[in-house]
Amino acid sequence: MGRILVHICCAPDAVYFLKRLREDFPDDEIVGFFYDPNIHPYEEYRLRLQETKRTCKQLGIELIEGEYNLEDWLEAVKGLEDEPERGRRCSVCFDFRLERSARLAKELGCDVMTTTLLMSPKKSIPQLKDSGERVAKEYGIKFLALDYRKGGGTQEMFRLSRNLEIYQQDYCGCIYGLFKQKEGEVFWDLVSFGGRRPGSKEEALFVKEIRTFAEGIGLPVREFEFPFLSWKVLEGGVWVNKEAVPSIVVPFSQSVRGRVRADVERVSGNTLYLNKQFVRLILVDRLADRPVSEITGVVSPTFLVPAEWRERLLRSRVEVSLRTEFLQERSRVLLIGGEEADRIIGIPADTLQDGRGFRGDYVISLIKSKAENIREGRVSLVLLGAHSLGRPGQRFFEELTGRCLEEVLDYPS
Ligand code: SF4
Repeated sequence: MGRILVHICCAPDAVYFLKRLREDFPDDEIVGFFYDPNIHPYEEYRLRLQETKRTCKQLGIELIEGEYNLEDWLEAVKGLEDEPERGRRCSVCFDFRLERSARLAKELGCDVMTTTLLMSPKKSIPQLKDSGERVAKEYGIKFLALDYRKGGGTQEMFRLSRNLEIYQQDYCGCIYGLFKQKEGEVFWDLVSFGGRRPGSKEEALFVKEIRTFAEGIGLPVREFEFPFLSWKVLEGGVWVNKEAVPSIVVPFSQSVRGRVRADVERVSGNTLYLNKQFVRLILVDRLADRPVSEITGVVSPTFLVPAEWRERLLRSRVEVSLRTEFLQERSRVLLIGGEEADRIIGIPADTLQDGRGFRGDYVISLIKSKAENIREGRVSLVLLGAHSLGRPGQRFFEELTGRCLEEVLDYPS
């Protein structure tokens, strides 16, 4: 019995490849190695790693995570930024990842190595074979250039990946491929807002981590993607006499043009109306984001500001800037338990602009405490993506299943 080290690039490419490898080499032990410092940004790296962990766990394959030495990878491909896919940058990228894999294979006593990159429909098998055989030879081991794509393998890979609800990326991995393959949409892939904003990679990772836990203790899970109208703040703020006023933008606020200098022209209750571009300032005792429960369309530029600023806002000229963007995006809901359970409880998966949201350890302890009831069909839990922007996940789930959620937990205060 021998040991085969498999360099793994992502879960969709790994799922069928590992299954076939196990069938073809039943007497050998398989060790997975996730070594992909080419993946950018880091949130995307973590998401692909998480899905690889889940896949390996299901297949009972040990997985080792390599270093995320992005700077070394960038240095290695310097000067090749504009190369097309399958060009010289990709050859260096393969050498970089496979050389490290061959070194580990040697350390672990594996006499054979291979890579799931061979499964990727956009990669050149001869290019990978050349790289793999060259680096493997340096360490005195053998490289298996397996072609599991042929004979319907690619279709089977997509089928398995869909059935297991594995996260499917839409670019190869590096920042250069990202710019070439996604063109104008790249911007939002590279922005991190902190927390788990609706439809973000962080939100997807949260859902995947909770899913891995629930599956690990044997609970039934289903995951569904849904489209929704997303809204993001690009930049914005309120100033009085050049001093920044603490503020939060109300979801679905429109942008203002340029930097507006204006006066308060009307006060109605706790709302101050400026005399330019329909800007509104709502005075609140405690500055906290408010999730919208129903979308009522775009609202005029509206900020929440602390009530203690009232007099200064009334006395002085106010400056405001705000740039927001509306986008068609995707998010997901995760059902833990059956659709027919007596009671279904919703938990927002996203976080608000002020960072409030449910922590992973809280959700895990909730699942543990309800595990028996979930198994017996008395209760189910459903993680709701993009909840703060008009409950699109809840509405999607209720329409899909014909079930109304009995309870949805409020964002923690
Ligand atoms: S396109 Fe893919 S294979 Fe080519 S350099 Fe980028 S990450 Fe590596």
